[in-house]
Amino acid sequence: MERVYNVADVRGMFPSLQNKVQGKPLIYLDNTATSQTPRTVVEDIVSDYYERKANVHRGVHTLSQEATARQEETRRRVRDYINADSVEEIIFTRGTTEGINLVASSYGQRFHEGDEVILTVMEHHANIVPWQLLQSRVGIKLRVVDINDKGELDLEQYESYFNDRTVMASFTHVSNVLGTINPVRDMIATAHRHGVPVLVDGAQASPHLRIDVRYLDCDFYVFSSHKMYGPTGIGILYGKKALLESMPPYQGGGEMIGHVSFEHTTFADLPYKFEAGTPDFVGIAAFSKALDFIESVGLGNIEAHEEELLRYTTEKMRASIPGLRIYGEARHKSAVISFLVDDIHPYDIGMLLDGLGIAVRTGHHCAQPLMERLGIPGTVRASFAAYNTVEEADAFVSGLKRVVEMLR
Ligand code: PMP
Repeated sequence: MERVYNVADVRGMFPSLQNKVQGKPLIYLDNTATSQTPRTVVEDIVSDYYERKANVHRGVHTLSQEATARQEETRRRVRDYINADSVEEIIFTRGTTEGINLVASSYGQRFHEGDEVILTVMEHHANIVPWQLLQSRVGIKLRVVDINDKGELDLEQYESYFNDRTVMASFTHVSNVLGTINPVRDMIATAHRHGVPVLVDGAQASPHLRIDVRYLDCDFYVFSSHKMYGPTGIGILYGKKALLESMPPYQGGGEMIGHVSFEHTTFADLPYKFEAGTPDFVGIAAFSKALDFIESVGLGNIEAHEEELLRYTTEKMRASIPGLRIYGEARHKSAVISFLVDDIHPYDIGMLLDGLGIAVRTGHHCAQPLMERLGIPGTVRASFAAYNTVEEADAFVSGLKRVVEMLR
């Protein structure tokens, strides 16, 4: 059973939330970009550097063995967290971006000129540019699925794009701009009916939704620790074992080899084949503390709390800000509100809100093709996490009202 949600207790676990910005208490609403970090994660990192730093997989000495054990414990935790079959399917990367690049570079080696990869117009640049690099190298074609007025994908168009040249579909689970939660399980089933593997960009889903890779039946799933209350510079690539086994290494170096000679080098088994060089083992170990945090509070509780903040803030904004336009009104939506007010420039709103201690994002949010599709240069974006409160939502809306009145 999930525990009762006490947001004050949750906030108490995050020292950075006590900070002031511009002399005002921080109201942090840029969680889509990165989340704040609980004390337990920070302390784990500090202890590693103060007390026990040693490289993983390298030595018989105690500290090295302990470091290896901590890293592999996180791998097991991640396997359980996303319900993967085995630890061999969990590859540590630098983040979502590297995970997608890894798949595009390595799996993409089997693509030929004229092969087609299906993307959507709501993708983050991280799920566009790696495929474009393949486009210029190999001559693959990109097919881009459009959205409707609410910011939901055109699923008929999606299905119509599959043909005998389709080699991959790669799309986001949750849009970092529109908040749309895509029906990825159905989309994956569609792709599989056509014999096409799927990569899901889970950067914006993993902090908020229960991810079950076996239920989704995705072939690849990528996400980043820093958006999940964990350290920066750590990401996860989940891949089905048979696919990962069939793929060539992404980078070469230490850790990823079986035996090296100048005549012939063999590669390590999964997952190490894809983990060349010394990883951020300190961060990886500390990531398990972030998973502890999420599990101690309960992901279902976090999701319900954020949903309530989304509903409350959206209604309040609509009621009190004339000229407001919200981008993204999907039926299934995550706690992200992208908006503009009249023709006021988003940067002006963001700057003045910052003066009130309110951190929101402004700009194209690394989704320029989506901005082009919407016919706007950018938006202001407020996004919520486990520790945000109704009082912060109130302060944000009244701050926004003031700012808009000043700018009009
Ligand atoms: N995809 C989506 C949907 C994102 O929101 C982000 C981060 N904004 C990324 C990919 C890239 O994540 P990272 O920078 O952690 O690699």
